[in-house]
Amino acid sequence: MIKKKYVILGAGITGLTLGKFLKDDYIILEKENQIGGYCKTIKKGDYIWDYAGHFFHFKEEYFKKYFLEKSELKNIIFKEKNTKIFYKNNYVDYPFQKNIHQLEKKEFIECLYDLFIKEEQEENETFIEMLYEKFGKSITEKFLKPYNEKLYACDLKMLDKDAMGRFFPHANINEIIKNMKIKKNSSYNDSFLYPKGGAIQFINKISSEIDSEKILLNQNIKSIDINKKIIYTEKEEIEYEVLINTIPLINFLKIINSFSEFEKYFSWNKVLVFNIGFNKNLDTNLYHWIYYPDKNVNYYRVGFYNNILEEKKLSIYVEIGYGKEDEIDEEEIKKQLELTIKNLEKTGVIDKTFEVEEYCSIIMDPAYVHINKEIEEIKKEVKGFMQKNSVYTIGRYGDWKYCSMEDSMLDAKNLAKYLKKEKI
Ligand SMILES: Cc1cc2nc3c(=O)[nH]c(=O)nc-3n(C[C@H](O)[C@H](O)[C@H](O)COP(=O)(O)OP(=O)(O)OC[C@H]3O[C@@H](n4cnc5c(N)ncnc54)[C@H](O)[C@@H]3O)c2cc1C
Repeated sequence: MIKKKYVILGAGITGLTLGKFLKDDYIILEKENQIGGYCKTIKKGDYIWDYAGHFFHFKEEYFKKYFLEKSELKNIIFKEKNTKIFYKNNYVDYPFQKNIHQLEKKEFIECLYDLFIKEEQEENETFIEMLYEKFGKSITEKFLKPYNEKLYACDLKMLDKDAMGRFFPHANINEIIKNMKIKKNSSYNDSFLYPKGGAIQFINKISSEIDSEKILLNQNIKSIDINKKIIYTEKEEIEYEVLINTIPLINFLKIINSFSEFEKYFSWNKVLVFNIGFNKNLDTNLYHWIYYPDKNVNYYRVGFYNNILEEKKLSIYVEIGYGKEDEIDEEEIKKQLELTIKNLEKTGVIDKTFEVEEYCSIIMDPAYVHINKEIEEIKKEVKGFMQKNSVYTIGRYGDWKYCSMEDSMLDAKNLAKYLKKEKI
């Protein structure tokens, strides 16, 4: 039997960062034959693709400095975000609510009028209530509601008003009016950094600080005995003192065979991603990504690797939202690919002369977790129980939240500091 003080489940950015900080007496168990989780990069022909865009925007100096120190600067791309919303055959700046003056006159007046007559309540509970109360009917129904329904693939009543936390671009009437003259569309990801070889390059830098023997790949975990502190995989029995989970919380609860009564409250979306490389470029489009609220278009967002990596051929990622119960089989993927190509033509991203050179599809499941009051209560109870049993659950999916790669890394850094009781 292997004995380790710390055992980490999952070798994504969270698990690897934790390993880097713990330094000794740990192992990481990963079910796949590769590290990186959702920060993996795919190389096909001339194209470099992530699992949908994975761009680094740092809110704290610590990891920004680490990212820059660990990368050769010539291999890092820095971009000021250039994004648009495709609305009724025109482009509007993001966020929609701050750029209603770019709409045609009738639509602009509808949005402005509704923004002024909206009735704000002291307390709003759900995401959809928050949208109507803060932005009025027109802004909500023209963009915020259809776009988020496509992304989250659920009734927005199911989400808490703060489901998107700091990632939601709030704006009050003053800011909206001021933006008509002095453009200030700032958001959490105004600018971003990106390694030329894709997100995996940063993962490889983190893992270069980890002894490769500490990462056990292809580990299929059968069960975990929380009382005896033993993990049973198909190949090993591993005894731990402290267990740290970074795999999706719902899957972890199934493995430890606890809290099955809460399963029905967990909800999330899946995202089908197409990465597509074409034979040539369309030089009129310089955007990094475009949002699509129109429900007749199957995708909700298209990103342009070629405009980020400054490539000569069009190279895009396309994101399509699904509910947790929706099946995404081969037939569905084929259907969506055909629809995607049609819609790319319809929305002017490509024309008939474009040919697909390479493509791949990826299913991210879970992709965006659905946050509401019930799930927050459940998390509190589950985490209380776990902590009593020396189990911690962190990262975007381990802690079941909406966050960035940097936030997931911060979770790992803070937990290492707590566990090792030393300054990091
Ligand atoms: C569409 C989309 C776009 C995104 N874009 C960005 C972006 O531009 N910028 C940004 O900062 N963030 C972005 N994110 C968020 C980012 O992907 C996450 O914050 C980050 O990848 C979380 O890393 P993690 O290590 O916690 O989880 P994961 O990357 O999911 O890693 C978990 C690991 O656990 C492994 N695992 C799962 N089950 C088991 C098991 N039973 N046993 C052992 N191992 C297991 C998995 O194989 C995986 O390697 C995006 C997310 C999505 C869905």
